[in-house]
Amino acid sequence: MSATPPNAPVVLARELKQVYKINRGFMRPADHLQAVSGVSFTVLAGKTLAVVGESGCGKSTLARMVSLIEMPTSGELTLGGMDVVKASEQERHALRRKVQLVFQNPFGSLNPRKKIGAILESPLEINTPLSHAERAEQARAMLALVGLRPEHFDRYPHMFSGGQRQRIAIARALMLKPALIVADEPVSALDVSIQAQVLNLLADLQQELDLAYLFISHDLGVVRHIAHDVLVMYLGHAVEQGDKTTLFSQPLHPYTQALLASTPGIAGAGLAKKRMVLTGELPSPLNPPSGCVFSTRCPHATARCTSERPALRELADRKVACHLAEQFV
Ligand code: SF4
Repeated sequence: MSATPPNAPVVLARELKQVYKINRGFMRPADHLQAVSGVSFTVLAGKTLAVVGESGCGKSTLARMVSLIEMPTSGELTLGGMDVVKASEQERHALRRKVQLVFQNPFGSLNPRKKIGAILESPLEINTPLSHAERAEQARAMLALVGLRPEHFDRYPHMFSGGQRQRIAIARALMLKPALIVADEPVSALDVSIQAQVLNLLADLQQELDLAYLFISHDLGVVRHIAHDVLVMYLGHAVEQGDKTTLFSQPLHPYTQALLASTPGIAGAGLAKKRMVLTGELPSPLNPPSGCVFSTRCPHATARCTSERPALRELADRKVACHLAEQFV
């Protein structure tokens, strides 16, 4: 998987589904929560797919499936050419080295009792036969790659700022030379000025190492800086997906329009006329609306919208799931 050629698919997901069984108590039938309802996407080497949506839209469940933390209930998932669902436990174990996670809270994910050098060496100690000296050499090289200084090697996590800790978390994720980084809201806990530095670092590392990123975020302002492609999710469904420039300049799904309109600094002239304010709560995924999942909050909803679920279909260089999408072209 590490030898993935440029622009080759690192992740191929087809009709991925994740359904959780929710027990409701003794003698009561269990509920079923569709966290992800048949989502398809590709992540290429050297590219970033951003998955966006509100909390509860299924984006973190998607990240857990791609990270092999959870197996999908159904659908196809191929990582580096290997079918994850059909792979043996041993093959999945090998694949896990090639998919690394970066979390929102870098402090929570770094062992406070270990020095940075030991934190970076740890994945090598567990997964490779390298000597202590070789591990230390690679850890020092990685510190430099993420913009930290040699003296940081012997310091503890609490001695670093939030941005530096996220650099350490990124460095640790890269120690096993992954092909894919799954980044779950990696900059949302950081100040805006620091966010830009970490996003620039991620972009530089992607270019240098030809990394694929699955970037989970609720913040389109952040996604604008890092994504090549965007997948917009609502209540477990893909409602719009395509190239970032296409989606940002001409969003066709009312939910994408609302997300963009509520993001400072993004709504431009073309978007202004489509500006809408997102009101109301996200419905419970245990009891999703019939028809279009966005119908309870959509200002354009018609009778058809509440009875017939719109298919995700090709329109104007992207895929969109809205009966009225032609009106927004
Ligand atoms: Fe709104 Fe109807 Fe389109 Fe759904 S299908 S987004 S309810 S207009």
